[in-house]
Amino acid sequence: MKEASAGKKLFEDLAYRPKPAWDRLSSEERQRVFALAEDYKAFLTAAKTEREANALILAEAEKQGFRPAEKFQGRLAPGTRLYYNNRGRSAALVVIGREPLSAGFRLVGSHIDSPRLDLKPRPLYEEEGLALLKTHYYGGIKKYQWPVHPLALHGLVVLAGGERREIRLGEEPGDPVFCVTDLLPHLAYEQMEKKAKEAVKGEALNIVVGNIPYPEEEEVKERVKLAVLNLLKEAYGFREEDFISAELEAVPAGPARDVGFDRSMVGGYGQDDRVSAYTSLRALFEVRQPAKTAVCLFTDKEEVGSMGNTGAQSRFLENVLADLVHRQGGTSVDLGVREALARGEALSADVNAALDPSYQEVSDKRNSALLGYGINLSKYTGARGKSGSSEASAEFTALVRDLFNRHNIAWQPGELGKVDEGGGGTIAQFLANLGMDVLDAGVALLSMHSPFEVASKVDVYMAYRAYKVFWEPEK
Ligand code: MN
Ligand code: MN
Repeated sequence: MKEASAGKKLFEDLAYRPKPAWDRLSSEERQRVFALAEDYKAFLTAAKTEREANALILAEAEKQGFRPAEKFQGRLAPGTRLYYNNRGRSAALVVIGREPLSAGFRLVGSHIDSPRLDLKPRPLYEEEGLALLKTHYYGGIKKYQWPVHPLALHGLVVLAGGERREIRLGEEPGDPVFCVTDLLPHLAYEQMEKKAKEAVKGEALNIVVGNIPYPEEEEVKERVKLAVLNLLKEAYGFREEDFISAELEAVPAGPARDVGFDRSMVGGYGQDDRVSAYTSLRALFEVRQPAKTAVCLFTDKEEVGSMGNTGAQSRFLENVLADLVHRQGGTSVDLGVREALARGEALSADVNAALDPSYQEVSDKRNSALLGYGINLSKYTGARGKSGSSEASAEFTALVRDLFNRHNIAWQPGELGKVDEGGGGTIAQFLANLGMDVLDAGVALLSMHSPFEVASKVDVYMAYRAYKVFWEPEK
């Protein structure tokens, strides 16, 4: 072996270049990467809406010894496991630390809502022999990606008397699916001339749901609609008016899948941001007695601005902290919450865009995350001069970077797109507004916000390990 030149040695010592995360895996770790991905795919397949994700998270948490806070009477000892369920659409899981909450806490926060097609309040209509459902899309989608793709209907209908009817149709092998149609190329001359954002209009995202008319009768005009209503009555016991008190979401049908000859990637719907929800949940389950209390937060409504009583802008987190401070017997709950927040540290667990080899022109290659290079750290988000970004401090970023380096966790710095090319936000700013130190840390995806997002299994694994050591460093 030839001795490396002095310049090469110096370059390796001084220069920084992220390396493929796959390169640093032992054969045993490689097995763990693939095993975790199996479990992750099952989670993605089972949890396609915020409600489904919330229910699955809390059911798993119960199995891991977490108890609903409102039923917990005992003393908060280090290692005590509690959860807070916020209206079935967001939640917080807590592992009590050895230090009091007023000394600060460590939070990993993700969101469990994803872009999709929501049904309108009066969705059902009949036109030209078909029954259809009108939708209003939720979150940032490219509308042309949603037609001609099998869709499943998920959600909840609350009947006038308060009775609940849960719907999940289109996921089982024998289930029917639904779809939005698109023009055939032969008649799409004008459509193809349009800008991509106008080629498929929001009002054209109508879902086909039926074709058989109700048996002929003189008085009835909309016979296909009536036949569908009749089926809904028989299957779920609801009438047309009940659509107005429903949360019905059309999402891509079918399971998450392996991608690639080497099965190195996971493809599926809703990885923004259920990859962060999943990895932080798995990580928290392994936290025993952290120094600082560990909080795993799952929020809703991130894709529409984190609004409302289940979004990251709500008082939910403060309410959780107030309850904990109260139980720890602080003299002033208000002060205790403020101290906890001012000394609190958070990873905003959210995805970022991976550099796409086919669309490199929108990214700064030197500052983009690559698929398979580990968890992505985004110091800031925002757009046009970092607008709308809380930006992590140098001190907190250094703390996290050191922690990951010490634990051999592959990480990379990544920014969403070139300067002035676009941008995006996460819940980081809302946590930072409360006084916490916050850094965005999550998995990079290809085809983000599409019906089939792609993640690298090694990045999923590194995210899980990263969240875990953030809460409880290994000795
Ligand atoms: Mn997200
Ligand atoms: Mn998103």
